[in-house]
Amino acid sequence: MRLLVTGGCGFIGTNFIYLMQERHPDWKIVNLDKLTYAGNRKNLLAIENNADANYSFIHGDICDKTLVTNIIEEYQIEAVVNFAAESHVDRSINDPAPFLTTNIQGAQNLMECARQAGLEKFVHVSTDEVYGTLAKNEPAFTEDNPLIPNSPYSASKAGADLMARAYFETYNFPISITRCSNNYGPYQFPEKLIPLMYTKAVAGEQLPIYGDGSNIRDWIYVDDHCTGVELTLLKGQPGRAYNFGGAAEKTNLELVRELLSILGKDESSITFVKDRPGHDQRYAMDFTVAQNELGFSPSVTFAEGIRKTIQWYQDNELWLEEVKSGSYRDFMAEWYGER
Ligand code: NAD
Repeated sequence: MRLLVTGGCGFIGTNFIYLMQERHPDWKIVNLDKLTYAGNRKNLLAIENNADANYSFIHGDICDKTLVTNIIEEYQIEAVVNFAAESHVDRSINDPAPFLTTNIQGAQNLMECARQAGLEKFVHVSTDEVYGTLAKNEPAFTEDNPLIPNSPYSASKAGADLMARAYFETYNFPISITRCSNNYGPYQFPEKLIPLMYTKAVAGEQLPIYGDGSNIRDWIYVDDHCTGVELTLLKGQPGRAYNFGGAAEKTNLELVRELLSILGKDESSITFVKDRPGHDQRYAMDFTVAQNELGFSPSVTFAEGIRKTIQWYQDNELWLEEVKSGSYRDFMAEWYGER
């Protein structure tokens, strides 16, 4: 297969490319990434420097129609997996505009270029956050739940999901959507909960937890999500959305306590800070459809995955240092400094 992966230098895209190279060495992977603050080309140097790898990197924007059209033509692309996005909720609260540009217009541009080229497979990577929020006793989200997003980030992702639906209904465009819960694992940018708390704990800093820490998220090890995307690419039905989850619901406070316990640290550094505006109480995923149709099930338990993840960060201190020294630092100072 000749596959265009967008946003491959981000957290999930990097893990996806490594996994697909391992599982499908015959696939040609072309990675289109704008290299925003969250994109790190160095993540994939091992593949770029491997002359035998079937891989090309292109620095560019998914909103650029000429570029995307040329890539599809030049590399004879057969399928697209769209990971490219502005992905951080707090940043979307600060400034929603780039979220609309990349997450909606960029996604639509990719769909349009792929449609015009007659591509037969497109996987659009979305999120559980498009479903809005759940109360503690409500059943987990199914694919039939309405899209009721609450943050500018989730609204932008829901916008692309609706556009994907429209492309299928209007043009019979062969697009499938994946909706997944919170990922964790290697290469995650340290603005997200687990690497943020890890870096702060290791530095002996306060660990800021929103509100009273009772918000619940479902956690999935990143490779399991990548497997879900792979299965969707290989077996997903056009016009369908598939939920993926890790069957590991935890409050934010439980998660941070578990992390501190693995690191052998006490809980005195936990600090509760003013809640995030519009903070969803709970996300939970019912992934029965993916289980039945695609043969998906999460293979890594949270207890295993969190240890693997911490080990990776301990082994890759230089990666963390390099990432933290970029523009991320200014954002963190501004965001957590004023709260
Ligand atoms: P990330 O922020 O780590 O990476 C995003 C990547 O997209 C970066 O490499 C960035 O440079 C690139 N990018 C941004 N704008 C671009 C543009 N206009 N053109 C080309 N490239 C661009 O994000 P992530 O956590 O790896 O998430 C990947 C996808 O998975 C996103 O669509 C996100 O909504 C979705 N998702 C993430 C999670 C999670 O827990 N992280 C859960 C469910 C779904």
